[in-house]
Amino acid sequence: MSFHSITHNAKYRFATLHNYGCMFRCPVCSYKLHSGPEGRPGYAWPKPDGFLTTGQIKEALRTVDLATLYFMGGEPTMARNLAELLDFGKNTMGVRTFLGHCNGWKLDLPNLDGANVGLKAWDPQVHRAYTGREKDLIFGNFQRAFEAGMDLKANVVYVPGLVDVDQVEAIAAWLGSLSRDIRFHIMGYIPVPGQPYERPTAEQMTEAVACCKRHLNQVGRSHLTSEEARNHAVRDDRFAVKQIA
Ligand code: SF4
Repeated sequence: MSFHSITHNAKYRFATLHNYGCMFRCPVCSYKLHSGPEGRPGYAWPKPDGFLTTGQIKEALRTVDLATLYFMGGEPTMARNLAELLDFGKNTMGVRTFLGHCNGWKLDLPNLDGANVGLKAWDPQVHRAYTGREKDLIFGNFQRAFEAGMDLKANVVYVPGLVDVDQVEAIAAWLGSLSRDIRFHIMGYIPVPGQPYERPTAEQMTEAVACCKRHLNQVGRSHLTSEEARNHAVRDDRFAVKQIA
């Protein structure tokens, strides 16, 4: 698919390119929170009215002050012009390039400095049922990128009844076997309409963080309600952005 919009945060000097579409089919995808009843799996965000050309993107980026260029999804590596835009960001604009949210499908990209990878499940069967893809491919991509020196962060959505605390901790233990310093973030599941799972409690979140800290030095958490997720900017000024294209 393609990038359909660009946002800019002047305070923190970053711009984000937003892609439409994903090759995974996660039933609990948080993008469905925005899509309404017509949202389709993998294309859960409402379909944009149009897409930006590579020229329009470059033109817009030249108008703002930047230190970092983020690429988001759905899954940003689906965008056909990603390689050209990474090259533009890194070698023409001289900024840091980062997949702000991705599923680990493709990480070995020239001119990419780092990525925040959503690891979905530890159990191979759960991973397959959750995403439609094999766990070993994604975890193998993460390990190779880490060993190649990429700046990597990881996150997991804690979904009681689907991805329980034992799987969250197993992912943390695996990351810790690569390095205790990998930054890890646990997101409490935000209920998606039509799915049977509930939010973890505050106590469950605290337990999950404590378990993961046995393996990793930096473990963060977010435990948002649906309403808070829709209004990120109220809680965190990194989400207070202006659309520039
Ligand atoms: S990988 Fe992420 S964006 Fe893609 S369907 Fe799953 S949760 Fe949604």
